[in-house]
Order: sequence, then structure tokens, then C-alpha cells
Amino acid sequence: MKAGVLEKVNKVRFCTVADPVLAPGDMLLKVRAATVCGTDIRILRGRKTAGIRYPSILGHEFAGTVVETGGHSQFHPGQAVCVCPQFACGKCEYCIRGAENLCRNMTAMGYEIDGAFAEYVRIPARGIEAGNVFAMPEGMSFETAALAEPLSCVMNGQERVGVTIGDAVVILGAGPIGILHVKLARFAGARHIIVSEPNELRRKAALAEGADVVLDPGVEDLIETVRAATGGLGADVAIVAIGVPSLANDALKLVRYRGRVSLFAGFSKDVQAEIDVNAIHYNELMVTGSFGLTRLQFQRSLQLIASGHLKLETLLTHRFRLEDIETALQVAEQGAAIKVAIV
Ligand SMILES: [Zn+2]
Ligand SMILES: [Zn+2]
Repeated sequence: MKAGVLEKVNKVRFCTVADPVLAPGDMLLKVRAATVCGTDIRILRGRKTAGIRYPSILGHEFAGTVVETGGHSQFHPGQAVCVCPQFACGKCEYCIRGAENLCRNMTAMGYEIDGAFAEYVRIPARGIEAGNVFAMPEGMSFETAALAEPLSCVMNGQERVGVTIGDAVVILGAGPIGILHVKLARFAGARHIIVSEPNELRRKAALAEGADVVLDPGVEDLIETVRAATGGLGADVAIVAIGVPSLANDALKLVRYRGRVSLFAGFSKDVQAEIDVNAIHYNELMVTGSFGLTRLQFQRSLQLIASGHLKLETLLTHRFRLEDIETALQVAEQGAAIKVAIV
């Protein structure tokens, strides 16, 4: 089959590779759409290395049609499905506690095992048995279904930090994840959403997707803007949606007493940041991280997209064929694109 192969850091090449070899119970999908994630870029650039193999095939946001069911009678050939790409064990202490996104025996598609920047993708039996393969709702496009994965991760972040009705929310960074945070916070009932982003195109996109105020942190004073919008109090929630460590401390200054801060974005390995510990102490702040997604969040994301109430189509700004994978990744890395799809 044809695939976009990660050969080493900074090198993805479109080439012919062996077809996936199926073990008993494995499912084979023909990939119909896969979207590029910030994580793919971090892996390509060598900023994420844990669990990465060379060569391997990236791509963990995808949907496709069933070629081989692997004997799982709930699916049939030709059926449109999408996959929650983190397979939890269901048995470890975190799975037992309902935090399957933190499973200690997790297998992640798209780097630990080959992903969907290819003609075909193998879904290991383990993932099907764990309930990670979902039938796509009627009428949903493959590329929109692929967005169920990032939406689920954003949902996990907002559940952790508790975005709720009437909140003033500040989002730092308006890449695809920041913009998904804007859309979901609006949907969750936020009254006021302020987005800080240096890139003008991304600011425009955030505004178009529902932010109330966007600003350039290099030019305007974010703290002043947040105070002015909240009667001097500060925001209820700040979400760091770009992996710049120093923003963690900035976020502490943006929220009110008992405000909540989400360090949503992944940071480069081994980086540290200075933190005003007294701000957390005296202001009784809550600071949380967020990692991955659960099957429940994936199911809810699919249902939300299918409901038509949360529209994601406008996020898909660029489409490429698989043979143009290198260009697709470059475009996704630059500011002009929100979501780049391989179709
Ligand atoms: Zn992703
Ligand atoms: Zn587990």
C-alpha cells in the first residue's frame, strides 16, 4: 500500500510499504480521511519522542470503511467507522477509577502502532474488543468524523477544568486546539471568551468561530483586557492551548480567586517553568492538566457532531492527497491552516 512514512526526525516520505499483516481478530480499514494533529507535528520535529518508532506511520485522527471485520460480527465490510485511538486495558488502577485516558497499559495508534496516514490501517483486536471502534452516525462526513478525536481531547480538558454556564474563559493560543476550545466553551455556556494569539490569521479564525475578543499579546495587554471584561475580577477559567511553558505562570494571573487553570497543551520533554506558588496558595487556584480522551468522550463527541449543534466543518481549511503528505504537514505547521485533512 501507499503510506506517508516517518523515517526520522523532520522526514516523512510518501512511498510504498508492505500491506498491514492481520493477526486473528484484527480489523482492516480503508482510510477515507485523516486529519493532522499538533502531536503529529511535535513528533515530526522531534519534540515528542516517547514511544516513537522509526520508521512508522503517524495519524491518529481518522475515519474509514471496514475491509476486513476480523470476525467481529457487529461490523460489516463497507461500513463507515471511526476509532478512538487510545486503547486502555480496562484493568489497571486508573481504568478501575474511570480514568482510562491515564491507563498504565495504554496502546496509542498513530505512533506506538502504525496510524492512518496510509491507504489502509490495521486496528488491533485489542482495540475492537475494548470498544474503541465506533460506527459513524448516518450522514456524517469522514473528515468531520476524524475531528471527534481532537474534540474529545478538548472535552476532557474542559471537564477537568470545569468550564460551565456563565464563565469568562481565556484561551491562550488559537491553533486548531485553541479554536476547538473556543467552540466547546461557547457550547458549554461561557458568557465571554477572550483569545490571545500572536498570529493574525489565527486570531481572525478564533473570532469567526465564536470568540468575543481576540488580541495580540505582543501588542495589547492581556491582563488589562481580562480585568476590563470581568469587572476587575479576572476570568473564571484560563486554558493554555499552546505548549509554551512560560504561559503557565501568565495564566495564573488571568484568573480570579478560586479561578481554574488548564495546562492543556503538551510541552517539550524535560522543560520546566517558573510558577508563582503564592498566586496558587493565596488565591486558592485550581491548576490541572489534561491528557488524551476516553471512549465516553469520543462517543459524546460523535453524537454532538451528528446533532448538528456543534458545527466543525469550517475548521477543515485545507485538504491534501496522501502523496502530498509532506506539504500537508508543513501547511498544518504554519498559521494559515486550522485543520488539514488527508483525503
Ligand atoms: Zn490529535
Ligand atoms: Zn488500564
